[in-house]
Amino acid sequence: MWADPRDKGGMPPILPLDDQSIAIAVDHIRAGRLVAFPTETVYGLGGDATNGEAVAAIFEAKGRPRFNPLIVHVPDMIAARGVGKFDKRAEELASRFWPGPLTLVVKRMVDSGVSELASAGLDTVAIRMPALRGARTFLAEVGRPLAAPSANRSGKVSPTTAQHVAQELGDAVALILDGGPCKVGVESTVLDMSGETPVLLRPGGVPLEELEEALGRKIEVAGADTAIASPGMLESHYAPALPLRMDAREAKAGEALLGFGPVSNATLNLSETGNLREAAANLFAMLRDLDSSDFTAIAVMPIPENGLGRAINDRLRRAAAPRG
Ligand code: AMP
Ligand code: MG
Repeated sequence: MWADPRDKGGMPPILPLDDQSIAIAVDHIRAGRLVAFPTETVYGLGGDATNGEAVAAIFEAKGRPRFNPLIVHVPDMIAARGVGKFDKRAEELASRFWPGPLTLVVKRMVDSGVSELASAGLDTVAIRMPALRGARTFLAEVGRPLAAPSANRSGKVSPTTAQHVAQELGDAVALILDGGPCKVGVESTVLDMSGETPVLLRPGGVPLEELEEALGRKIEVAGADTAIASPGMLESHYAPALPLRMDAREAKAGEALLGFGPVSNATLNLSETGNLREAAANLFAMLRDLDSSDFTAIAVMPIPENGLGRAINDRLRRAAAPRG
C-alpha cells in the first residue's frame, strides 16, 4: 500500500448533521481547526475564512501545490454582503439562484476580515450560499464566513459521502459532519460578475442557459475566447508591482527584506519561528504591504520546498518571473 492518510493517525469522528454535532463543529472552527461538512454539491473542507492559519491548514490538508482562491460560504445574504460587493446584477442572480449550486465572484469588501490567502491575494472573492439546510445552520451558528474547497486531496475527485472524506483526509479534519450522499454531486457553477461582462469560470450545478436567461444576455466562457484569461490564469493573477528576488540572504540597497525564520534584519517576517502555516497566512498581506512602500524591490529569504512551502515558493516564483 502507498501513503494512506489513515496510516498517519486516527480517523476523525463522523457525526450526523444535527444540532448537537453542529455545536461541536462550531467550537472546532472557532479554535481554528478544520471541519468537513456536506452541501448539496459535494462535501466541503471548511475553515474560518477570517483566520489565515486555518485557511493555510486547508491548503496543507489538500496537499495543493499552489494557492488558488477558495470559495467562501455564507448562510444568508447579509453575511454575503459583508464579504463581497453585490451590484444590481449580482443581487438579482443571488436572489434567483441562492441558496443553491452557484458561486459568484465579486469584488472583495475591504473590511470583510476574510484572509487574503482565501482569495489568493486577488481583489475579488468567490461566494456561495449552499442549499442544504443543515449546511446553512452550521454556517449561521459559526457566525463567520467559511472558506471551503472540496474535501478531497489535490488532484482527486470531489467526495460526495462522509466516508469518501474520511478516506481522503483522515485526521487532517477534526470532525466530519455526515449529511448522507450529496444530492447534486457535481461542483457549483462559478460565474465571475466582478467585471463588465459576466464570465463562466467553471460549469457546474446551475446550467449556463439558466444564467443567460436570468441575465438576459450571453455569458462568455473562460478559455473559449482568447480575450478572456483561463481560470488558471485568473488564479495566478496577483503579483506585486515591485521586482521580487528569491533565496535572498540579505537586502541590497533599496530592497525590502521579507524574512523567514529567526532573523533580526528583516523588514517584515513571514514567520519568525519558521512555521509554514503562519508564513502562508501572512504571504499576500505582507507582499502587499511591501509593494506599497518606498522600497525599489523585494528580496525574499529562502523558504523550504516542502509542505506548504511548495505553494509559497510557487507563488514567489511567479512573482519573480520576468513580466512582459
Ligand atoms: P473549489 O474551492 O475547489 O470548489 O474551487 C473553487 C473554484 O472557484 C476554482 O475553480 C477557482 O479558480 C474559482 N475561484 C474562486 N475564487 C475566485 C476568484 N476570486 N476569481 C476567479 N476564480 C475564483
Ligand atoms: Mg475541488
